Amino acid sequence: MHSFQNNNKLVSHLEASGHEVRRIARAPDGSPVVAVRAGGAREPAIFISAGSHSTEQAGVSAAVQLIDALQTEHQVWVIPTRDPMGMNGYRHVLEWALGEPADLASRDDLEGFLRARGEVVIDEEDVVVATINEFAFTTRNLLGRFKESDAALVEPLKGRRIFVPSGHEDVAGAAPLERAYTLIVSPQGDVLHVNRFHDTAWAPAEVHATRRLLAEIQPGICFDLHEAMGIQDRYWLSARKQRTGDLDEQEAHAATAVIERIAAWGARFPEDEYLPGKFFTKSQPGVFWLDALVRGEGLNLMDYAAREYGIAFGTEMGMFGTFDDRVAMGMLTVQAAVEAWEANR
Ligand SMILES: [Zn+2]
Repeated sequence: MHSFQNNNKLVSHLEASGHEVRRIARAPDGSPVVAVRAGGAREPAIFISAGSHSTEQAGVSAAVQLIDALQTEHQVWVIPTRDPMGMNGYRHVLEWALGEPADLASRDDLEGFLRARGEVVIDEEDVVVATINEFAFTTRNLLGRFKESDAALVEPLKGRRIFVPSGHEDVAGAAPLERAYTLIVSPQGDVLHVNRFHDTAWAPAEVHATRRLLAEIQPGICFDLHEAMGIQDRYWLSARKQRTGDLDEQEAHAATAVIERIAAWGARFPEDEYLPGKFFTKSQPGVFWLDALVRGEGLNLMDYAAREYGIAFGTEMGMFGTFDDRVAMGMLTVQAAVEAWEANR
Protein backbone atom coordinates (compact mmCIF):
# COMPACT_ATOMS: atom_id res chain seq x y z
CA MET A 1 0.00 0.00 0.00
CA HIS A 2 1.27 3.45 -0.85
CA SER A 3 -0.21 6.91 -1.05
CA PHE A 4 -2.01 8.30 -4.09
CA GLN A 5 0.19 10.56 -6.18
CA ASN A 6 -2.44 13.26 -6.55
CA ASN A 7 -6.17 13.96 -6.44
CA ASN A 8 -6.73 12.90 -10.06
CA LYS A 9 -5.18 9.49 -9.38
CA LEU A 10 -7.36 9.15 -6.32
CA VAL A 11 -10.54 10.09 -8.22
CA SER A 12 -9.71 7.71 -11.12
CA HIS A 13 -9.18 4.91 -8.62
CA LEU A 14 -12.55 5.63 -7.00
CA GLU A 15 -14.39 5.89 -10.32
CA ALA A 16 -13.00 2.52 -11.36
CA SER A 17 -14.31 0.95 -8.14
CA GLY A 18 -17.90 0.67 -9.34
CA HIS A 19 -19.30 2.71 -6.47
CA GLU A 20 -21.30 5.91 -6.81
CA VAL A 21 -18.77 8.77 -6.84
CA ARG A 22 -20.27 12.20 -6.34
CA ARG A 23 -18.40 15.42 -7.04
CA ILE A 24 -19.48 17.66 -4.18
CA ALA A 25 -17.24 20.70 -4.64
CA ARG A 26 -14.42 22.18 -6.65
CA ALA A 27 -11.29 23.53 -5.03
CA PRO A 28 -10.01 26.84 -6.46
CA ASP A 29 -7.70 24.99 -8.90
CA GLY A 30 -10.69 23.07 -10.27
CA SER A 31 -9.87 19.81 -8.48
CA PRO A 32 -13.01 17.95 -7.44
CA VAL A 33 -13.78 17.00 -3.87
CA VAL A 34 -15.51 13.64 -4.11
CA ALA A 35 -17.75 11.57 -1.89
CA VAL A 36 -18.23 7.83 -2.40
CA ARG A 37 -21.33 5.89 -1.43
CA ALA A 38 -20.78 2.31 -0.28
CA GLY A 39 -22.07 -0.15 2.32
CA GLY A 40 -25.66 -1.38 2.59
CA ALA A 41 -29.10 0.19 2.87
CA ARG A 42 -29.50 0.53 6.65
CA GLU A 43 -29.70 3.94 8.28
CA PRO A 44 -28.30 5.94 9.87
CA ALA A 45 -25.25 6.29 7.66
CA ILE A 46 -21.62 5.88 8.62
CA PHE A 47 -19.42 8.80 7.55
CA ILE A 48 -15.64 8.53 7.08
CA SER A 49 -13.26 11.27 6.02
CA ALA A 50 -9.57 12.16 5.93
CA GLY A 51 -7.09 14.41 4.20
CA SER A 52 -7.98 17.84 5.55
CA HIS A 53 -4.26 17.95 6.35
CA SER A 54 -2.67 16.63 3.20
CA THR A 55 0.58 15.63 4.81
CA GLU A 56 -1.43 12.86 6.53
CA GLN A 57 -1.78 10.47 3.60
CA ALA A 58 -2.18 7.13 5.40
CA GLY A 59 -5.56 8.35 6.66
CA VAL A 60 -6.57 9.01 3.05
CA SER A 61 -5.48 5.54 1.94
CA ALA A 62 -7.26 3.95 4.92
CA ALA A 63 -10.49 5.80 4.05
CA VAL A 64 -10.24 4.51 0.47
CA GLN A 65 -9.63 0.92 1.60
CA LEU A 66 -12.60 1.09 3.95
CA ILE A 67 -14.97 1.75 1.02
CA ASP A 68 -14.82 -1.96 0.24
CA ALA A 69 -13.37 -3.41 3.44
CA LEU A 70 -15.73 -2.06 6.10
CA GLN A 71 -18.07 -4.84 7.27
CA THR A 72 -21.51 -3.30 7.81
CA GLU A 73 -25.10 -3.30 6.55
CA HIS A 74 -25.32 0.44 7.08
CA GLN A 75 -24.88 3.05 4.36
CA VAL A 76 -21.30 4.28 4.18
CA TRP A 77 -20.25 7.66 2.83
CA VAL A 78 -16.57 8.44 2.41
CA ILE A 79 -14.83 11.72 1.55
CA PRO A 80 -11.25 10.43 1.25
CA THR A 81 -9.65 13.83 0.97
CA ARG A 82 -11.02 17.22 1.97
CA ASP A 83 -8.09 19.19 0.57
CA PRO A 84 -7.41 18.19 -3.05
CA MET A 85 -5.06 21.12 -3.63
CA GLY A 86 -2.91 20.19 -0.65
CA MET A 87 -2.90 16.60 -1.87
CA ASN A 88 -1.77 17.74 -5.33
CA GLY A 89 1.05 19.42 -3.50
CA TYR A 90 3.08 22.54 -3.08
CA ARG A 91 4.75 22.38 -6.49
CA HIS A 92 1.41 21.77 -8.22
CA VAL A 93 -0.25 24.78 -6.62
CA LEU A 94 2.78 26.98 -7.24
CA GLU A 95 2.78 26.04 -10.92
CA TRP A 96 -0.98 26.55 -11.10
CA ALA A 97 -0.59 30.06 -9.68
CA LEU A 98 2.34 30.88 -11.99
CA GLY A 99 0.81 29.31 -15.08
CA GLU A 100 4.07 27.55 -15.92
CA PRO A 101 6.51 24.96 -14.53
CA ALA A 102 8.50 26.01 -11.46
CA ASP A 103 12.25 25.49 -11.57
CA LEU A 104 12.52 24.20 -8.05
CA ALA A 105 14.68 21.21 -7.08
CA SER A 106 14.02 21.09 -3.35
CA ARG A 107 12.66 23.00 -0.40
CA ASP A 108 16.05 24.71 -0.07
CA ASP A 109 15.32 26.63 -3.29
CA LEU A 110 11.98 27.87 -2.03
CA GLU A 111 12.95 31.13 -0.35
CA GLY A 112 14.92 32.37 -3.36
CA PHE A 113 12.17 31.26 -5.71
CA LEU A 114 9.42 33.07 -3.77
CA ARG A 115 11.53 36.24 -3.60
CA ALA A 116 12.12 36.14 -7.35
CA ARG A 117 8.65 35.17 -8.54
CA GLY A 118 6.20 36.32 -5.87
CA GLU A 119 5.35 39.51 -4.01
CA VAL A 120 6.90 39.13 -0.57
CA VAL A 121 4.40 40.10 2.13
CA ILE A 122 6.16 38.67 5.19
CA ASP A 123 9.95 38.71 5.39
CA GLU A 124 11.33 37.58 8.73
CA GLU A 125 14.43 35.76 9.86
CA ASP A 126 12.84 32.32 9.85
CA VAL A 127 10.07 32.68 7.25
CA VAL A 128 9.24 34.25 3.90
CA VAL A 129 5.65 34.50 2.68
CA ALA A 130 4.85 35.65 -0.85
CA THR A 131 1.66 36.03 -2.82
CA ILE A 132 1.34 34.78 -6.38
CA ASN A 133 -2.04 35.71 -7.85
CA GLU A 134 -4.74 34.86 -5.31
CA PHE A 135 -2.64 32.37 -3.37
CA ALA A 136 0.11 32.77 -0.82
CA PHE A 137 3.12 30.53 -0.31
CA THR A 138 5.22 30.21 2.79
CA THR A 139 8.56 28.57 3.47
CA ARG A 140 7.30 27.13 6.78
CA ASN A 141 4.12 26.64 8.79
CA LEU A 142 2.52 29.76 10.28
CA LEU A 143 -0.10 28.05 12.44
CA GLY A 144 -0.32 29.74 15.85
CA ARG A 145 2.29 32.34 14.89
CA PHE A 146 0.26 35.53 14.69
CA LYS A 147 -1.06 37.55 17.62
CA GLU A 148 -3.51 40.44 17.55
CA SER A 149 -0.58 42.85 17.34
CA ASP A 150 0.36 41.23 14.01
CA ALA A 151 -2.83 42.44 12.27
CA ALA A 152 -0.87 44.51 9.74
CA LEU A 153 1.19 41.45 8.74
CA VAL A 154 -1.91 39.36 8.20
CA GLU A 155 -3.83 42.07 6.33
CA PRO A 156 -2.63 41.18 2.77
CA LEU A 157 -3.40 37.51 3.46
CA LYS A 158 -7.06 37.92 4.47
CA GLY A 159 -9.36 35.56 2.57
CA ARG A 160 -6.43 33.73 0.96
CA ARG A 161 -5.05 30.23 1.12
CA ILE A 162 -1.45 29.91 2.25
CA PHE A 163 0.38 26.79 1.10
CA VAL A 164 2.96 25.28 3.44
CA PRO A 165 5.45 22.70 2.17
CA SER A 166 5.30 19.37 3.97
CA GLY A 167 7.82 19.55 6.80
CA HIS A 168 9.59 16.19 6.77
CA GLU A 169 11.69 14.30 4.25
CA ASP A 170 11.23 11.00 6.06
CA VAL A 171 7.46 10.63 6.33
CA ALA A 172 6.05 8.15 3.81
CA GLY A 173 3.55 9.80 1.48
CA ALA A 174 4.46 13.40 2.35
CA ALA A 175 7.63 14.60 0.62
CA PRO A 176 7.98 18.39 0.99
CA LEU A 177 7.07 19.61 -2.49
CA GLU A 178 4.71 16.69 -3.16
CA ARG A 179 2.18 17.74 -0.52
CA ALA A 180 1.12 21.02 0.97
CA TYR A 181 -0.44 21.78 4.32
CA THR A 182 -3.11 24.33 3.48
CA LEU A 183 -3.74 27.29 5.74
CA ILE A 184 -6.97 29.23 5.29
CA VAL A 185 -7.10 32.88 6.31
CA SER A 186 -10.62 34.05 7.12
CA PRO A 187 -11.87 37.46 5.97
CA GLN A 188 -11.36 38.53 9.61
CA GLY A 189 -7.71 37.47 9.53
CA ASP A 190 -7.84 34.22 11.52
CA VAL A 191 -5.07 31.97 10.20
CA LEU A 192 -6.49 28.45 10.49
CA HIS A 193 -6.69 25.36 8.23
CA VAL A 194 -9.12 23.16 6.30
CA ASN A 195 -10.31 21.33 9.43
CA ARG A 196 -11.92 24.48 10.85
CA PHE A 197 -14.89 26.70 9.84
CA HIS A 198 -17.42 23.86 10.17
CA ASP A 199 -19.70 26.05 12.30
CA THR A 200 -19.16 29.38 10.54
CA ALA A 201 -21.15 31.00 7.72
CA TRP A 202 -17.93 31.87 5.92
CA ALA A 203 -16.08 28.69 5.04
CA PRO A 204 -14.00 27.40 2.14
CA ALA A 205 -15.77 25.37 -0.57
CA GLU A 206 -14.42 22.06 0.74
CA VAL A 207 -15.93 22.71 4.17
CA HIS A 208 -19.30 23.88 2.81
CA ALA A 209 -19.57 20.73 0.71
CA THR A 210 -18.80 18.44 3.65
CA ARG A 211 -21.40 20.22 5.77
CA ARG A 212 -24.02 19.84 3.02
CA LEU A 213 -23.32 16.12 2.64
CA LEU A 214 -23.64 15.56 6.39
CA ALA A 215 -26.96 17.40 6.42
CA GLU A 216 -28.21 15.14 3.65
CA ILE A 217 -27.07 11.80 5.07
CA GLN A 218 -27.63 12.53 8.82
CA PRO A 219 -24.87 10.13 9.94
CA GLY A 220 -25.08 8.16 13.19
CA ILE A 221 -21.30 7.74 13.54
CA CYS A 222 -18.47 9.79 12.03
CA PHE A 223 -14.72 9.41 11.64
CA ASP A 224 -11.92 11.73 10.61
CA LEU A 225 -8.59 9.95 10.10
CA HIS A 226 -5.66 12.17 11.08
CA GLU A 227 -2.01 11.51 11.74
CA ALA A 228 0.37 13.21 14.14
CA MET A 229 3.97 14.26 14.48
CA GLY A 230 5.59 14.07 17.91
CA ILE A 231 4.37 10.59 18.91
CA GLN A 232 6.81 8.55 16.74
CA ASP A 233 4.80 5.51 15.63
CA ARG A 234 2.23 5.57 18.45
CA TYR A 235 -1.53 5.97 18.26
CA TRP A 236 -4.30 7.80 19.99
CA LEU A 237 -8.03 8.28 19.52
CA SER A 238 -9.78 11.59 19.95
CA ALA A 239 -13.33 11.40 21.30
CA ARG A 240 -16.09 13.99 21.67
CA LYS A 241 -18.49 14.78 24.48
CA GLN A 242 -22.02 14.09 23.25
CA ARG A 243 -25.35 15.92 23.50
CA THR A 244 -27.03 13.25 25.64
CA GLY A 245 -26.03 10.73 28.28
CA ASP A 246 -27.03 7.85 25.98
CA LEU A 247 -24.76 9.07 23.22
CA ASP A 248 -21.97 9.70 25.73
CA GLU A 249 -22.22 6.04 26.74
CA GLN A 250 -22.10 4.95 23.09
CA GLU A 251 -19.03 7.12 22.52
CA ALA A 252 -17.21 5.72 25.55
CA HIS A 253 -18.20 2.14 24.71
CA ALA A 254 -16.96 2.46 21.12
CA ALA A 255 -13.74 4.14 22.27
CA THR A 256 -13.02 1.20 24.58
CA ALA A 257 -13.68 -1.26 21.77
CA VAL A 258 -11.26 0.62 19.51
CA ILE A 259 -8.50 0.72 22.11
CA GLU A 260 -8.86 -3.02 22.85
CA ARG A 261 -8.67 -3.85 19.14
CA ILE A 262 -5.76 -1.53 18.46
CA ALA A 263 -3.81 -2.81 21.49
CA ALA A 264 -4.40 -6.43 20.45
CA TRP A 265 -3.07 -5.56 16.99
CA GLY A 266 0.13 -4.34 18.66
CA ALA A 267 -0.15 -0.57 18.69
CA ARG A 268 1.46 1.42 21.45
CA PHE A 269 -0.15 4.47 23.05
CA PRO A 270 1.60 7.71 24.11
CA GLU A 271 3.46 7.86 27.44
CA ASP A 272 1.38 8.49 30.58
CA GLU A 273 2.38 12.15 30.86
CA TYR A 274 1.56 12.92 27.21
CA LEU A 275 -1.34 15.32 26.57
CA PRO A 276 -1.91 16.57 23.02
CA GLY A 277 -3.15 19.97 24.22
CA LYS A 278 -4.70 21.73 27.20
CA PHE A 279 -8.11 21.29 25.59
CA PHE A 280 -7.95 17.49 25.93
CA THR A 281 -8.78 15.29 28.90
CA LYS A 282 -7.68 11.67 29.09
CA SER A 283 -9.83 8.68 29.99
CA GLN A 284 -8.10 5.31 29.44
CA PRO A 285 -4.62 5.16 27.84
CA GLY A 286 -4.85 6.14 24.19
CA VAL A 287 -8.14 8.08 24.44
CA PHE A 288 -8.29 11.86 24.68
CA TRP A 289 -11.50 13.89 24.78
CA LEU A 290 -11.38 17.17 22.91
CA ASP A 291 -13.25 20.20 24.27
CA ALA A 292 -13.58 22.71 21.40
CA LEU A 293 -14.85 25.43 23.78
CA VAL A 294 -11.54 25.33 25.64
CA ARG A 295 -9.48 25.15 22.43
CA GLY A 296 -11.19 28.03 20.60
CA GLU A 297 -10.93 28.30 16.77
CA GLY A 298 -14.55 27.15 16.34
CA LEU A 299 -15.48 23.58 15.44
CA ASN A 300 -13.50 21.03 13.47
CA LEU A 301 -15.37 18.37 11.53
CA MET A 302 -15.69 15.89 14.40
CA ASP A 303 -16.62 18.63 16.90
CA TYR A 304 -19.36 19.66 14.48
CA ALA A 305 -20.50 16.06 13.83
CA ALA A 306 -20.75 15.46 17.59
CA ARG A 307 -22.79 18.62 18.07
CA GLU A 308 -25.17 17.97 15.17
CA TYR A 309 -25.35 14.23 14.54
CA GLY A 310 -23.88 11.67 16.91
CA ILE A 311 -20.82 9.83 18.02
CA ALA A 312 -17.63 10.99 16.37
CA PHE A 313 -13.95 10.07 16.50
CA GLY A 314 -10.68 11.32 15.18
CA THR A 315 -7.56 9.19 14.93
CA GLU A 316 -3.96 10.24 15.30
CA MET A 317 -1.58 7.69 13.84
CA GLY A 318 2.07 8.51 14.52
CA MET A 319 3.59 9.58 11.21
CA PHE A 320 6.90 7.81 11.80
CA GLY A 321 5.26 4.40 11.68
CA THR A 322 5.36 2.49 8.40
CA PHE A 323 2.73 3.55 5.89
CA ASP A 324 1.08 0.10 6.02
CA ASP A 325 0.86 0.18 9.81
CA ARG A 326 -0.63 3.66 9.76
CA VAL A 327 -3.26 2.53 7.24
CA ALA A 328 -3.99 -0.59 9.31
CA MET A 329 -4.57 1.43 12.49
CA GLY A 330 -6.95 3.80 10.71
CA MET A 331 -8.95 0.91 9.30
CA LEU A 332 -9.04 -1.01 12.59
CA THR A 333 -10.33 2.07 14.39
CA VAL A 334 -13.32 2.40 12.10
CA GLN A 335 -14.15 -1.32 12.01
CA ALA A 336 -13.97 -1.70 15.80
CA ALA A 337 -16.00 1.43 16.52
CA VAL A 338 -18.67 0.54 13.96
CA GLU A 339 -19.07 -2.97 15.43
CA ALA A 340 -19.44 -1.55 18.95
CA TRP A 341 -21.90 1.09 17.76
CA GLU A 342 -24.04 -1.43 15.85
CA ALA A 343 -24.18 -3.79 18.82
CA ASN A 344 -24.98 -1.09 21.35
CA ARG A 345 -27.30 1.47 19.81
ZN1 LIG B 1 -4.47 16.29 11.00
